[in-house]
Amino acid sequence: MDLLRLKEKQNWTAGDITELLSLTGEEEREVLRRAADEVLRREVGPAVYYRGIVEFSNICALDCLYCGIRRGNGGVDRYSLEDEQILSSVKWCAENGYGSVVLQSGERRDREFIRHVERLLIRIKEETRSEKLPRGVGITLSVGEQTEETYRRWFQAGAHRYLLRMETSDPDLFRRIHPPEQSLEARLRALGALRKAGYQVGTGVMIGLPGQTPAMLARDILTFRDLDVDMIGMGPYIVSHGSPLAEQGMMEKQALLKLAFNMIAVTRLVLRDVNIAATTALQALTSDGRERGLTYGANVTMPNLTPRGVRKSYQLYEGKPCVEEDKEECRGCLLGRIRSVDRDVAFDAWGDSVHFARRQSGEAAREQ
Ligand code: SAH
Repeated sequence: MDLLRLKEKQNWTAGDITELLSLTGEEEREVLRRAADEVLRREVGPAVYYRGIVEFSNICALDCLYCGIRRGNGGVDRYSLEDEQILSSVKWCAENGYGSVVLQSGERRDREFIRHVERLLIRIKEETRSEKLPRGVGITLSVGEQTEETYRRWFQAGAHRYLLRMETSDPDLFRRIHPPEQSLEARLRALGALRKAGYQVGTGVMIGLPGQTPAMLARDILTFRDLDVDMIGMGPYIVSHGSPLAEQGMMEKQALLKLAFNMIAVTRLVLRDVNIAATTALQALTSDGRERGLTYGANVTMPNLTPRGVRKSYQLYEGKPCVEEDKEECRGCLLGRIRSVDRDVAFDAWGDSVHFARRQSGEAAREQ
């Protein structure tokens, strides 16, 4: 493969992608990084979009083998934020020009939870409208697999983007890291239901899982493309001590970081106009991980707005950064970090996926 022609490359094969993901030499990785950066600027522009994330509850009905807030972890203080606490974080976000929020929690499918989220969405929409944000803050939900009807209700109530990682597209690996009641098929069906309900759909995987190969990650990227998703959020797999998967260890940090950055860059090259997040887990590996992720083709990042008192109870993995910082402190720190890599934040904007807009106008044109 000609590394100098990456930014125009069309017909991607699993072999091409595997080759790029496996690059370790500094010079070759710099060629890859630059190509991803050029495609980013050409397809979606250099702006970075914020999604203030509120981790509103760590109560979870699932038992994912890798996750620190899995049901079976008895060592976690379980919490659910009051609506007023959530609203105050979300309003702070709107007032500070963060045009969008992510509401994330452990997974629950009971009626009370579904109704609660619905009411919360309606209130957030009502209470964050302003001159700068006439339609209120943009809301992304990240609360797992639900029925199509639930997804529709929440869409009606005001959420318009949804993140649901497939975690891996490899059926055997998926089975090895989840209890038997979960399946990749159900995850993929849920992604289809989200799409039907009208959301901008985001998915992603963990990078560096025990037993995961570059060829599997290459198929992950091709799966994102085939599903025609609008947004990608992926990050390194980091051990959660005491979890069932912990005994299988994790990749060495420097190698993992390189692989995660390669994964972002190649996803940008293959998918081109989707939103890609530089996730918090990158920063858990190294303090400048998130901004370095931006230089490999990411254009979204998620400042943490969870109230400080409960942050340490939402530890999905070891070494999650900023658990002692307040959102005020994070604000200046993060902006400085983003500017240090010569990028800037688009404030007071939803920052929707360009891919979604193109997909919509393509569908409209076909219907005429
Ligand atoms: N329950 C929701 C959201 C919470 S978990 C859902 O399932 O969508 C959000 C993401 O955290 C998961 O999709 C997973 O990819 C990631 N995560 C969980 N444990 C992790 C670990 N040990 N290392 C890295 N990422 C992890």
